[in-house]
Amino acid sequence: MRFASLASGSRGNCLVAESGGTRVLLDCGLSPRETARRLGRLGLAPADLSAILVTHEHDDHVGGAFAFAAAHELTVYLTRGTLQAAAGAGKVVEGVHTELVDGRAGFAIGGVQARPFTVPHDAREPVQYVLCDGARSLGVLTDIGAPTPHVLEMLSGCDALVLECNHDRAMLRDGGYPRWLKERIGGPLGHLDNDQAAELLGALDRSRLQHVIGAHLSQQNNRPALARAALARALDCAEDWVGLATQDEGFAWRDLR
Ligand SMILES: [Zn+2]
Ligand SMILES: [Zn+2]
Repeated sequence: MRFASLASGSRGNCLVAESGGTRVLLDCGLSPRETARRLGRLGLAPADLSAILVTHEHDDHVGGAFAFAAAHELTVYLTRGTLQAAAGAGKVVEGVHTELVDGRAGFAIGGVQARPFTVPHDAREPVQYVLCDGARSLGVLTDIGAPTPHVLEMLSGCDALVLECNHDRAMLRDGGYPRWLKERIGGPLGHLDNDQAAELLGALDRSRLQHVIGAHLSQQNNRPALARAALARALDCAEDWVGLATQDEGFAWRDLR
C-alpha cells in the first residue's frame, strides 16, 4: 500500500491511496483540472482511479469531487448527510453515481478497505477514514474539533497517520481573524490545534507507525516548524522524521511495508 497527497489545507484537500491496483481519492477540494494536473505529478492519470471518498460537505473537501467524478465516470462515496448538504449547496452534479456510506460500517473498493468513523465537526454528517490493504493501515484525521474515545480507538495501531495540525493556539488567538471565526476554528466542532494533535498522538497505540504527517495547516494561524515540533515531541523522535502536507504540494508517495 502507498499514499500521497495532492493538496492539504483550507484551499483544498485531496489524498490518494493505492492498494492492490486500486486507487481512491480521499476528498477532492481542487478543481478537476488542477486535480488531474497534480495526479500527473504523482505519475497517475484520472483513468487510474476507482472512486472518490468525500468526508464532508465543506468546499475544501467536496469542491471539485462531483465535477471530477462526472468527467471521469467515478463513483462518489459519502454519507447521506454529506450528500444532502452538498446537494443543498449546489455542489452535486446530476448523473454522478453515488454510494451512501454508513459512518459505522466498513466497505471495500477493490483492494482498498475503507473504515469510516464519525467525528465532531460543524458539518451535517462528517466522517474520517482508516484505509487498509488487509495488512497495513493508514489513518487520516482532519476537520475535527476535539478527539473522542472513538477516534482514538479507530486510529490506534495504524501503520501511518495523516493528522490535522490546523493552528497554533496563540497565533489564532492573537491573529487577525474576526472573533466568530476564531471561536469556530478553535471550538469543539472546529479544527485541531498543534497541541491537541500532539496529545491525541500521545494517547494512541503508536507501536506500528511508519509515517506521521501533519496536515491541514492554516497558512495564517500556524507555522510548519510549530506543527512539526509538536508532533515530534509526542513521538519522541527527531523533527525531520515528521512529514508535513502542504497546500501547494501535498506530499510525495509514502510506502507502507
Ligand atoms: Zn477542511
Ligand atoms: Zn471541514
